[in-house]
Amino acid sequence: MTRFLDVPATYRLVADIGVPRFLDELAQIIRADYLRWSEFDKSPRVACHSRHGVIELMPVADAELFAFKYVNGHPINAERGMQTVMAFGALASVDTGYPLFLSELTLTTALRTAATSALAAKALARPDSRRMALIGNGAQSEFQAIAFHTLVGIDELRVFDVDNRATDKLIRNLAAWPQLRIVRATSVAQAVRGADIVTTVTADKAYATIITPDMIEPGMHLNAVGGDCPGKTELHADVLNMSRVIVEYEPQTRIEGEIQQLAADSPVIELWRVLRGEIAGRENAEQVTVFDSVGFALEDYSALRYLHELARTHKVGIEVALIPPAADPKDLFGELALAAIERAGADQVLASV
Ligand code: NAD
Repeated sequence: MTRFLDVPATYRLVADIGVPRFLDELAQIIRADYLRWSEFDKSPRVACHSRHGVIELMPVADAELFAFKYVNGHPINAERGMQTVMAFGALASVDTGYPLFLSELTLTTALRTAATSALAAKALARPDSRRMALIGNGAQSEFQAIAFHTLVGIDELRVFDVDNRATDKLIRNLAAWPQLRIVRATSVAQAVRGADIVTTVTADKAYATIITPDMIEPGMHLNAVGGDCPGKTELHADVLNMSRVIVEYEPQTRIEGEIQQLAADSPVIELWRVLRGEIAGRENAEQVTVFDSVGFALEDYSALRYLHELARTHKVGIEVALIPPAADPKDLFGELALAAIERAGADQVLASV
């Protein structure tokens, strides 16, 4: 049997644990998995592009577990009153191929993205960072805000979105976090001025230049989350040229990240090297660092592993028969015939299946 965690069950689980603890524990698991980078069979995600969006599959495996995520990105959905990013995924035994766990991953993607952003920022931003600009106040934004407040120590948020209603919603949802001072900006430039960290989490299937070189101040850390597929970026190329750029998995980020704008041999550093202490995240307090986040399958593997364990210990989710029972593994047809007989109550149905 395969354990299945649907959206209401995941909401209950996360609510039971609390978002800050969930983010903290998940960030630790993501970190632990990044530290054993060489143990994973990795590949860039497979993408199916269309006029208004993209649908992608993200696989990864170690010697024990295989994981994949289905995820889309349809910025136009916002105009249709639908979600921009939706996901689900599974964890399977490498030894037998049996799926162990099937889960919603839309909420979980927002949590794992925020946990990864915070993990990267702890390694890259100046340790005294307290003020963050948050550009793009849509579905991902609260998760980023809470992760940076609780895991990185951000206590002032400068928020901006071209859609005022998105910012209203963000401010409303963060009312439960009075220690996090929120300043509403009237432009990107105003939000970014004086910030220690700049998070961009906008959605537009375009080569956008949300952040331009004139906005950059010495020592800033940029957490560029929204540009995550070909033809979809948020930073001006010269912002990248003046920064130390850290990526998750270079072969995938070359295709999807901000660095798709740069030459194929432009210098980048993979996050796992920084987390392992092989290469410094930031070399000095004046350096500008960029985490060019696109979302890598390993983070979903970590999230699925964490959710699977939580679902078991909290007895949440249901067991579903995703795979036919194996009384006689070679008799798949017999099982179908049995089901038909039970349904119709007659031997003759055998001929009709
Ligand atoms: P969303 O549609 O809910 O929110 C995006 C917001 O950006 C909207 O409120 C929109 O008004 C705003 N926006 C668009 N252009 C802007 C601009 N020029 N200036 C200011 N605001 C602007 O989308 P979401 O679910 O929050 O996702 C945001 C982006 O993050 C998407 O592009 C998505 O693909 C990406 N994403 C990346 C990762 C990752 O791992 N890197 C994970 C999840 C989502």
